[in-house]
Amino acid sequence: MLTIKCARCKAKLFKYQKIGSGHVLKCHKSRMKRVHQLEKNSQMYLCTCGSIIGKDEGSHIKMIRTAFTYTGTKE
Ligand SMILES: [Zn+2]
Repeated sequence: MLTIKCARCKAKLFKYQKIGSGHVLKCHKSRMKRVHQLEKNSQMYLCTCGSIIGKDEGSHIKMIRTAFTYTGTKE
C-alpha cells in the first residue's frame, strides 16, 4: 500500500493499492483507500493547500507527477 502525499505541503492525500512496480501515473479509484484530504473542483483533484494533484478521467485520476510524492510498497 502506498501513501500518496502532496509535494507542496506534505499532507497525506490518500492510500493507494498500487499493483506492479511501474511509476504511479494514474490512480484507479477502486484502489484508493482512506482518503485523507482531497478536493474536487470540476475535473481536477486538489490538495487542501490548492495544489492540483490530478485530473479526473472517469475510473481513474491521471496524476501530475510533480505534484505528489509517495511512501510505502507496491504489490
Ligand atoms: Zn498540499
